[in-house]
Amino acid sequence: MERNIKDTNITTDMVKLKCKRCGYEWEYNGASEWYASCPKCRTTINVRKQKEEDKVRKSQKGVRVR
Ligand SMILES: [Zn+2]
Repeated sequence: MERNIKDTNITTDMVKLKCKRCGYEWEYNGASEWYASCPKCRTTINVRKQKEEDKVRKSQKGVRVR
């Protein structure tokens, strides 16, 4: 398996997810648009919802939005 994939073009949006159960944060690149599992405690996270929240937060702060 290739591990050096940092130059790979990712067409899906990266989204920062935060687990509501254990507080773990990680970058998720969208294998599923809807749900992701926390790598730490395996809680199911609603990706869609977090993306919306992330978008709102970015636009409020005036951080660059794609
Ligand atoms: Zn967790």
